[in-house]
This record gives sequence, C-alpha cells and structure tokens, in this order.
Amino acid sequence: MRWRGQRQSDNIEDRRGQRRGFGFPFPGRGMRFPSSGGGGGARRGGGIGIIGILIILGLMLFFGIDPSVLLKGQAPGPGGGTGFPDIQLPKQRPDATNFPAPGRQAQIERPQSTGDDDLKSFIAVVLATTEDTWTQTFRQLGARYREPKLVLFSGYVRSACGTGMSAMGPFYCPGDEKVYVDLDFYRELKNRFKAPGDFAQAYVVAHEVGHHVQKLLGIAEKVEVAKRRMSRSGGNALQVRMELQADCFAGVWANQMQEQGLIEAGDIDEALRAASAIGDDRIQKQTQGYVVPDSFTHGSSEQRARWFRKGFQAGRLQSCDTFNAETL
Ligand SMILES: [Zn+2]
Repeated sequence: MRWRGQRQSDNIEDRRGQRRGFGFPFPGRGMRFPSSGGGGGARRGGGIGIIGILIILGLMLFFGIDPSVLLKGQAPGPGGGTGFPDIQLPKQRPDATNFPAPGRQAQIERPQSTGDDDLKSFIAVVLATTEDTWTQTFRQLGARYREPKLVLFSGYVRSACGTGMSAMGPFYCPGDEKVYVDLDFYRELKNRFKAPGDFAQAYVVAHEVGHHVQKLLGIAEKVEVAKRRMSRSGGNALQVRMELQADCFAGVWANQMQEQGLIEAGDIDEALRAASAIGDDRIQKQTQGYVVPDSFTHGSSEQRARWFRKGFQAGRLQSCDTFNAETL
C-alpha cells in the first residue's frame, strides 16, 4: 500500500504503556451492548438519587468502564430495532454505480522500517483513509459519519465491552465506539498465520471499522436484539452474516484505496489471506472468560474472500447485503 505522505488520523489512542495491573478482567461479561443491556440500571434507578448515581459513575470510572455508555444511551436505528428480517442497507443512489473498474495499479512504496512507531504511523494513515471513505459514503446517503477511535494496546486493555487481551486479536467495541488493536497481533499475523504484508494489516483495521459502520447504520443493534431471541446456533449464523458484511465493507474501503491510487500489486491477496487467518480457532480458544473477540464466528475462508471481493469490485455499501443474501 502506498501510504507515506498521506494524512494521519488524530483518532489514535496509544495505550501501549499501560500493562498488567490496570487490566481487570470481567469474566462472563461477554460482547454485549452495555448501553442497551446493562445501561437500564441507571435509568431505572430513580430512587437512588444523585449521590447514588455519582457513586456508580465513580465505580465505573474506577473499573475503566466508559460512563457515557449509560449517559448517552443507545443510538437508535431507523425503525426502532424490530429485529433480523428488517435489516436493510440504505437505499441505492442513482449514480452510485459510477466507480472505476479495478485494475489500475499504483507505484510500489513499501514501509522502510518495521518498527512500532512506523507501524503506528501506518495505522494512523489507514484509519484516516477509512474516515475519508465512510464520511463520503455517509454524505452521499445524507448522513453524517461519526469517526471511531482506535486504541493501540499491549497486554490487556479495558473497554466498555470488558477486558481485551493481546492474544485474542483486534476487536471493535460498540459501547465506546472504539477499535482495539494490539501491534503484537500483527506480528502473529505475519509469523504464525502466514498473512504478511501491510495491506493485510490495513484490512484488519478496515474490517473493524466495518463493524463501526454497522453500529452507525443500526445494523449491529438489530442483530444483537435478534440474537437474544435465537438459539446459539441461530445466533452464530447471524453473526457470520455480520462478519461477512464487515468484510464486504472492508472491500468497499479497498475500492476507494484503489480509486485513489494507493493500492499496489499483491495488496488484495494480502487482505484475503488475512481475512481467512483471523477466524482461526486457535485465537478463540485463548479468549475463554473474556470479552468475545472479533474472531468468534466468521464463516469460511471462501465466504470471507467472496464478500471482500464483492465489496471491492462494486465499491458500494448496497452490494454488502449479507442479511438478505440467499447464499453466502
Ligand atoms: Zn469482525
């Protein structure tokens, strides 16, 4: 990926200095929506008074939970969360098909150094490109894109969804709208999962940002609501569609990278290798008792590659309707 000299995002939180001791695992908390699930406590607690609320907020801060998840409430999706069959992507724009054909390649410019600071700069550029892509896409839909934060961490990290750890890979927390990335995972991706390359790393960020887009569009909440009424296997099947859509959204982003001449030969293959590597069961096994990571249920490598390609070739949000697709 030709990234040097491109804009770097300001939405990076570097928490790599905060190691063990600050981390506080929340066993069994799971990947929930704190604002819709646990958030009712504060609203129902009319009898506890201001002091009680302040104590609760203090405790939340102490344990590293973002109190705003209680205060601001869940962003309502259009239609008020009526469940799975309602999940729809925004209507197609008449001129939305006017994307350039794939094939143009840019000049090759690989990172010169593999140091962490270099990697941080690279991730800041990738995040900035996702901001540009989705700001533009949302604007075309008449909506405003709210940029997520990206937290770099090492070891353990606290999020509104519970505690994340390095071994489980990157994840997105809808409760605080942050993407969590451990740079050690990128080394794993390269050495253990045999998915090297800067575009593999970029894809990981783009996929997580795809989950953020799902939250903003109200899709994530509808899926959460629907999953509560389902069996475990039904919920997993729904989660697969969710993951494949995030892959497709990453493909839409990649299309924009191509349009801007930032993609070089081999980049797409790097992304596809990463797509299949992150779903590895070995990652999942290491996460018992912690926040359910993004690697939980992803669909097959073939499915992931297909939906990434679909988004890449179409360059349109509307091509990513995994929820109403008959075959995945
Ligand atoms: Zn995912």
